[in-house]
Amino acid sequence: MIALDAKSRETMAANLDSNIENNNDNMEKCYENYILIDVGANLTNKKYSRDLDSVIQRAKDSGVQKIMVTGTSVKGSKEALRLTRIYPGTLYSTAGIHPHDAKSYTDESWTELKMLAQNPECVAVGECGLDYNRNFSEPEEQRKVFRKHIELAIELKKPLFVHERDAHEDLLAILNEFKGKLPSVLVHCFTGSCENALSYLNNGFYIGLTGYLCKDKSDTGVRKLLVDGTIPLDKLVVETDAPFMYPNTRASKLPTHVKDGLTERSMTFLHRYCTFQRNEPCSLPAIVEMVAAFMNKKPEEVALSTSFNAMKLFGLS
Ligand SMILES: [Zn+2]
Repeated sequence: MIALDAKSRETMAANLDSNIENNNDNMEKCYENYILIDVGANLTNKKYSRDLDSVIQRAKDSGVQKIMVTGTSVKGSKEALRLTRIYPGTLYSTAGIHPHDAKSYTDESWTELKMLAQNPECVAVGECGLDYNRNFSEPEEQRKVFRKHIELAIELKKPLFVHERDAHEDLLAILNEFKGKLPSVLVHCFTGSCENALSYLNNGFYIGLTGYLCKDKSDTGVRKLLVDGTIPLDKLVVETDAPFMYPNTRASKLPTHVKDGLTERSMTFLHRYCTFQRNEPCSLPAIVEMVAAFMNKKPEEVALSTSFNAMKLFGLS
């Protein structure tokens, strides 16, 4: 036994501490995060009004480095833009009027939306499009307002962030009116059939996938799209559509190999912070792992590709 003087003991203790710290660092590196981009989260929703800081911090901790805040009305687009100024480099916004809200269109509000869309933090025009599923606005009104968005996107040379529900043919027909002039197009939160996806892809459009993956019970929908390899990795982006589209990884119809692909880390974020009532961007790693499992690819590969696509598509720095 060697008697140590106080100084040596201190040095040893300090070395030990720093060893433990290094080990922890290494452990953390082992579990190193994906780098992900959530291209659609409704962070202006009042469900986040009390703890947005924590929501964004959790997203970052889970690996979501950048989030695009969806603008679905003039007021919402203004608020989304305001958030980008509070979290520069992390949040980006879109400016648009959701088809549900097409009836709210006025010439004055459109002038305001145009101004919002011109800001550099606003990286896409939308969300816009057609939703014949619920027809909260008259289809005729929806088509008119959608055309306005397309013209604006062309004018500003910004990508279009498109929403479509039960309106595939009309949506495609309207977009085709502008063929040759169209900017990049993202069909966000895709929930349609393989056939629909294929015709979007044939037009060079990007497809955005969400936790809807867990809900899809059809034989011809989103899951098949991934299993068959119909959707190439270079046209895919991922999004949470938070607070909606909670990815229910406990869904009984989810194949075993997909459930097995979920890591403890992503499940911790999902189960600790997200619910059916309030999904959060930190659920994105779980979505990416499921997408990867369905595609029979590594989640790291899906993470890398989708982030690269999002950066390229929306010009994120
Ligand atoms: Zn939508």
